[in-house]
Amino acid sequence: MGSADENRRFDTHAVHAGERRGRPDGNGRGDFYPVSTPIYASTTFSHPDIQTTDRVLGGEEEGYSYARYDNPTVRAFEDAVGSLEGLRGEARAFAFGSGMAATHAALAAAELTGGATALAAEQLYGSTATLLVQVFGANGVETRFVDAYDLGLVEKKVAELRPRAVMVETISNPLLRVADIEGLARITRAAGTALIVDNTFGTPYLQRPLDLGADIVVHSATKYLSGHGDLTAGVVVAGPPFDAAVESIRKLVGGVLGPFEAWLAHRGLKTISLRMERQCANAREIAARLSEHPKISKVNHPSLEDHPDRETAGRALSDTGGLVSFELAVDPEMGREAAFRFLNALDLCVKAPSLGDVYTLAIHPATSSHRELSPSRRERLGVKENLIRLSVGIEHPEDIAADLEQALERF
Ligand SMILES: *Cc1c(COP(=O)(O)O)cnc(C)c1O
Repeated sequence: MGSADENRRFDTHAVHAGERRGRPDGNGRGDFYPVSTPIYASTTFSHPDIQTTDRVLGGEEEGYSYARYDNPTVRAFEDAVGSLEGLRGEARAFAFGSGMAATHAALAAAELTGGATALAAEQLYGSTATLLVQVFGANGVETRFVDAYDLGLVEKKVAELRPRAVMVETISNPLLRVADIEGLARITRAAGTALIVDNTFGTPYLQRPLDLGADIVVHSATKYLSGHGDLTAGVVVAGPPFDAAVESIRKLVGGVLGPFEAWLAHRGLKTISLRMERQCANAREIAARLSEHPKISKVNHPSLEDHPDRETAGRALSDTGGLVSFELAVDPEMGREAAFRFLNALDLCVKAPSLGDVYTLAIHPATSSHRELSPSRRERLGVKENLIRLSVGIEHPEDIAADLEQALERF
């Protein structure tokens, strides 16, 4: 990047970063310049001479050779995400076929091998916890869980267990706790432990964990980064020494992102600032209104006075995020039935898992994201049967509010 580029702001990078422009290819009809990076649907790439191919394959020269290693459309998307997550520094982004493939590569790059211990947030995304316990566990890695929102406790566990990696999420699901990445990084840096942060719920719009001292950032780009609910993708962003390990793991395990999905994800990413600004504003408005509603007993959103991490959120996030969760005011025995009735009464909001899309999504965490947990563990994590989670979209806030109100009226 030139010096003019470095002075540009996040919103500008989101629109322009990564695009491969100015490559003339007139094919005999005069030069022209595509303004959007083409979809390079090509398995392999040829060079003017075989010596160049030799140097590219040997890593002596930058270039494209084989699509499992690198693809220009995928690289365009990676450069864009890399410039948003690490506006400063030398981190590089690597795209994967899903958030889970990216998470696997990040954990493996942190050298979680036989005999090592991982310390993970107990609020972690269910599949990430299962990946650690089942896949890494089968290879001799022991995973211990900790309340990642209690820094004193994390510090104690790091000193006691000497973990090779600590894995947390910027914002937790579904209670939307906000991690103190700066505080966590102070602890892991002092202990020589890698800090891996899943920034799916945060996005670089709200927070850039690498700037706060994290070592590796992972994303399910299926969610806010692409933003339109039309693809599956993942990204790892890391600087030395982890970047080389991530690249090597991706080459060997092969969980690459295809050029079509990369192109769609890159197109979605351009509007991240506009989407997030609107989603955060809508979520604040919805959280405030639900807090006043007589049929709701509790609302979780970092903008609310009673949120346990309001102070951390104010310091660490540029806004309070697009997710809101709330409990229906019903007899605890009737929690699931009431939640199902409420969800079935929704008309505009889409009843489906996932999050970060342009449309508002509503789910019942106890039977979706936290389905695999025992009832007692759900209880301990505060995932009650009467809890609903909303991923607030970019619709007009009055229309979202009206749909929620009519469903609350009817459930
Ligand atoms: C969805 C999600 C994942 C997994 O991503 P996929 O793209 O579904 O593989 C990981 N972490 C978090 C926080 C998620 O929300």
